[in-house]
Amino acid sequence: MSLVNENFLSLQDSYLFSTIAKKVAKFMEENPNKTIIKLGIGDVTKPIVPACLKAMHQAVDEMGTKEGFKGYGPEQGYEFLRKAIVENDYQTRGVELEEDEIFVSDGAKCDCGNIVDIFAQNNKVAITDPVYPVYLDTNMMCGRNITYLPVTAKNDFKPELPKEKVDMIYLCFPNNPTGTVLEKEDLKKWVDYAKQNQSIILYDAAYEAFITEDNIPHSIYEIEGAKEVAIEFKSYSKTAGFTGVRCAYVVIPKTLKGYTKEGKEVDLNQLWNRRTCTKFNGVSYMVQRAAEATYSEEGKKQIQENIKAYLENAKIIKHGLEEVGFTVYGGVNSPYVWLKVPNGMTSWEFFDKLLEEANVVGTPGSGFGTCGEGYFRLTAFGTKENTVEAIKRIQEFSDKLQ
Ligand code: PLP
Repeated sequence: MSLVNENFLSLQDSYLFSTIAKKVAKFMEENPNKTIIKLGIGDVTKPIVPACLKAMHQAVDEMGTKEGFKGYGPEQGYEFLRKAIVENDYQTRGVELEEDEIFVSDGAKCDCGNIVDIFAQNNKVAITDPVYPVYLDTNMMCGRNITYLPVTAKNDFKPELPKEKVDMIYLCFPNNPTGTVLEKEDLKKWVDYAKQNQSIILYDAAYEAFITEDNIPHSIYEIEGAKEVAIEFKSYSKTAGFTGVRCAYVVIPKTLKGYTKEGKEVDLNQLWNRRTCTKFNGVSYMVQRAAEATYSEEGKKQIQENIKAYLENAKIIKHGLEEVGFTVYGGVNSPYVWLKVPNGMTSWEFFDKLLEEANVVGTPGSGFGTCGEGYFRLTAFGTKENTVEAIKRIQEFSDKLQ
């Protein structure tokens, strides 16, 4: 008899986006003349920039030649990309890392999920509420004990240090879903906590490229001592529109240690390297060349233009909502805008009303955790035209809410 991992049975059904899709489909069927604008799902809409396309095309051509053909590549990523990451994403910010502290992967989602392999099942895990669901579900799958750290307007969306000792802490800034950030001093508290408690911080910086303000760390390693306590996840998905191309990386400094039951230090970089070599084939050569091109002069320029345009949409959403009296968070260093649902409605009640009366789709905050109830997420990844039109409709709709 083949026994199953029963932890899977205690997972909540991931019904958020499927429920949204069903509600939207029903509304469209009943109202075929209405045009819906979707500011819900966090996928990008701008195509891959020319610099990355060119690099990918060149790499494809190389693969068709005897000299340029590549078979199995290094599981950890090609040296050219790891070097470009170290130089561009870290050295420019005063962070010194070595190439073998970088592991190139096919996504931050996979990395956040897979990293749990190298930690003991009985570690206590802290995650924020609301949260990007992957941290929660992947730890539930291993049956780990979860501590929730509420992030709401009450604490300015800054999680408070846990009262009890936790071993692993997931932090994501700029945050999905709230779009809020931590300043250097806020993050330093977490690094100090982790040092005191021999905990590891799993820092998801997937939205780092959207930071516009000073004093917001782009990497946790900008905080002194973080190399002894933190793993960092980065992704080209939102930065360079690679959601369909697939490329990301995880940083595991060689100074980062875990412990055996007997208290003996274990090198986490080595453990992850071992896991990577056994369970991962590496990212394709063409994709890694495209990722490398994000650091070329023209690549940087083209990508910045896209990010600027998304941030412009975020501004349109934020200011447009504020003009008609909504309380709004995020949207300055992030493509996400998190609004307080007015008049004591629940997140889902607001979703239904917005769909029916403004024909705009967003994401109910309660879908990201209990503390997301009463909030609502809008994303800046749509076109400018749709964003402007959606906000105009929400402004008109808000009159009816008074
Ligand atoms: N981390 C966060 C916080 C995200 O919101 C997302 C995607 O929405 C990811 C990671 C996934 O990134 P990737 O596409 O690299 O798997």
